[in-house]
Amino acid sequence: MIDEKGILFILSGPSGVGKGTVRKELFNRANDLAYSISMTTREKRSGEKEGIDYFFKTNEEFENMVEAGQLLEYARFVNNYYGTPRKYVEDTLASGKDVFLEIEVQGAMQVKENFPEGVFIFLFPPSLEELKNRIVDRGTESEDLVFERLKEARNEIHMMDAYDYVVVNDDVNSAVTKIQSIIQSEHCRRERIASQYKQLLKEE
Ligand code: 5GP
Repeated sequence: MIDEKGILFILSGPSGVGKGTVRKELFNRANDLAYSISMTTREKRSGEKEGIDYFFKTNEEFENMVEAGQLLEYARFVNNYYGTPRKYVEDTLASGKDVFLEIEVQGAMQVKENFPEGVFIFLFPPSLEELKNRIVDRGTESEDLVFERLKEARNEIHMMDAYDYVVVNDDVNSAVTKIQSIIQSEHCRRERIASQYKQLLKEE
């Protein structure tokens, strides 16, 4: 078999929809994905670890990385920067491994410009009421921030049209199982594997 490039999977969706929880459960299950750890300027939450949850950066450090073209995408979200390291993603894909990003929607749209062949999965909230409860229940945000995040979430839902798949997050386990099925199906797509089969036929 010819060496194949990895596939880039992008999980995105509105604030508070549960992207982080779904991503963690996906990585609790056995998989062959490489998770791209993001850079952020936001404060570390309790229990979070440098280099595991995020690479925590100052504003200046982050802006220098943007300037140097080191980020594949970045976005300002609720007064902080978040971004994806370009080199890690490109090198990992080139080595044949799939890469998984969990990012907000503005960033996902930038990735789409650079990697239209990526697989874009939109995590959809069961309802707006549920979304609000989740943002409030998280308890890490002030009232103003909850309002901000909810406003963003409403705008973000409209961006669903740009995605390949939509998964409703009414239950974490079933959402993760659906994402695993998407990953498996994408590996079976004819256009991804046709060249390998043609090569095989040539070798006969
Ligand atoms: P949180 O502060 O709750 O960890 O994340 C806030 C939002 O930023 C979430 O929607 C999360 O998916 C998103 N996010 C995390 N890393 C990145 C990144 O590298 N780029 C972008 N654009 N968004 C990110």
